[in-house]
Amino acid sequence: MSIFVDEYMAELKAKNPGEPEFHQAAMEVAESLEPVFDKNPIYREMKILERIAEPERVLLFRIPWVDDKGEIQLNRGYRIQMNSAIGPYKGGMRFHPSVNLGVLKFLAFEQVFKNSLTTLPMGGGKGGSNFDPKGKSDLEVMRFCQSLMTELCKYIGQFTDVPAGDIGVGGREIGFMFGQYKRIRGESVGVLTGKGRNWGGSLIRPEATGYGTVYFAAEMLTTRGETLEGKTCLVSGSGNVAQYAIEKILDFGGKPVTCSDSGGYIYDEAGIDRDKLAFILELKTVKRGRISEYADKFKSAVFTARDDSKAFNPLWDHKADCAFPCATQNEINAEDAQNLVNNGVYLVSEGANMPTVPEGVNFFVEKKLLYGPGKAANAGGVATSGLEMSQNSLRLSWTREEVDARLRGIMKAIHKQCVGACTAYGMEGNYVAGANIAGFLKVADSMLDQGVV
Ligand code: NAP
Repeated sequence: MSIFVDEYMAELKAKNPGEPEFHQAAMEVAESLEPVFDKNPIYREMKILERIAEPERVLLFRIPWVDDKGEIQLNRGYRIQMNSAIGPYKGGMRFHPSVNLGVLKFLAFEQVFKNSLTTLPMGGGKGGSNFDPKGKSDLEVMRFCQSLMTELCKYIGQFTDVPAGDIGVGGREIGFMFGQYKRIRGESVGVLTGKGRNWGGSLIRPEATGYGTVYFAAEMLTTRGETLEGKTCLVSGSGNVAQYAIEKILDFGGKPVTCSDSGGYIYDEAGIDRDKLAFILELKTVKRGRISEYADKFKSAVFTARDDSKAFNPLWDHKADCAFPCATQNEINAEDAQNLVNNGVYLVSEGANMPTVPEGVNFFVEKKLLYGPGKAANAGGVATSGLEMSQNSLRLSWTREEVDARLRGIMKAIHKQCVGACTAYGMEGNYVAGANIAGFLKVADSMLDQGVV
């Protein structure tokens, strides 16, 4: 580690104790930016990276709600308004018991660079709650969302901060939050994205993160004159991102063979085809069931229960060509990374945010994998949220084909920026450095233009 990274990290850790995910995300970016700072000392002098790591505002609030038994429940709500140099804060809300300030700061920090890469004018933010939607009735989820929005609505707006979905927040939750915002504020504006089709949502927004991750993979393969046709693909997760990643892999002629949830994973040697995918969509989005039920239904599949006493995740230990982690952070540890490479995987495109631990990232880069880090590879979701904001402002709805073509174009542009930036700094093929550098430069130059704010 260089003196700069050492000092930067020491200060960041002292200021933000007990936030390991945030430290991890900040460290990766700082390491990538060293050559940029050597070439352009102004960024260091103006403390740009230090300022980017300090949220412009952090909201922490109480969310009381009443469950179906009439008992009072209490959760904690957050919104991190990280950086508005290039546009209003933009980033999802996550509902999961593991949510805390550090997790959301890492996500908000990543979001700043990701949003910059999309080519659209969006700053970075993130929010959520330690609320667990699992096992809750629709009415409980509604009462929770209404209580959350009763407080959050004071701090967001179409020109200031536009939240969206993330883990545990899909169309149902966005609907409940939007309804309450409208009721309290008395205005029908695009204050949230990921809305329903009938009330301002964009076509392709639900599909966008998963599709985008696969588009990014296709771009990476193009650099080697290859396509996804016939490639065996490991996918983790079975939520929004995983579902549509699987769909796009199928569109491109690939063969997805795994998916998972927090209870374990299924391996389907025959491949997850469109009928099986329809089953997963119904199972996870409507019935809110467990992925183990897939193996009860399809005999070609084997379910393996999650076993935290194991040093590695067996999902990443199957022969394959490509991997699409689409569940959560740090789901690929150093041993998983080795298993992937030993099993022939040479492309990893991250649908999830920061799913690979730093040792795994370094290993992928060292082994010259086609490795698309989350902040580039999963930027299609927020990019399409940006397109939803544009349509809301224009009071228009673009067709499915139009939004998909724009999404594809944006993923190509992100890929091009990553390649351009890493090549300019002598690190050809290193998409981690490329994404961090390209994402940083636009935000940093905007901050320089706007003075010390
Ligand atoms: P989702 O619909 O809630 O699905 C999350 C999936 O991951 C579920 O299958 C869930 O299993 C699994 N999962 C969550 N936490 C887990 C844990 N600690 N261990 C094992 N499995 C876990 O969420 P999503 O929107 O697909 O998000 C997935 C990832 O993509 C996240 O990293 C998110 O930040 C990232 N992302 C999402 C978007 C977006 O537009 N939605 C955009 C960019 C990035 P259970 O059902 O058992 O909980």
